[in-house]
Amino acid sequence: MIKKSIIIGMMCVSFLGISQTQCSGTTKQNVQCKQTTKSKSGMCHNHDPNYRKKEVYPTVICSGKTKKNTPCKSKTKDISGKCHNHRNNDKN
Ligand SMILES: [Zn+2]
Ligand SMILES: [Zn+2]
Repeated sequence: MIKKSIIIGMMCVSFLGISQTQCSGTTKQNVQCKQTTKSKSGMCHNHDPNYRKKEVYPTVICSGKTKKNTPCKSKTKDISGKCHNHRNNDKN
């Protein structure tokens, strides 16, 4: 009876683990990554080459200037370092 409950317990664990798989990537020590992932690639965000971080660029103060020739105080995450107001002006 005790053995049976252990087997059932193990089955439950493996059943719950279906949605998450262990990362198929390897660490610098050449051992399998212990991270679990829900990604279709089967790799965690550290190993998945297609994974994109949501915030690539830090928030910076806009480098543009206002009509009064004072520095713009708007914050932006754009690679240009300018807020949406000043990026629009650059297009023309
Ligand atoms: Zn990994
Ligand atoms: Zn600006």
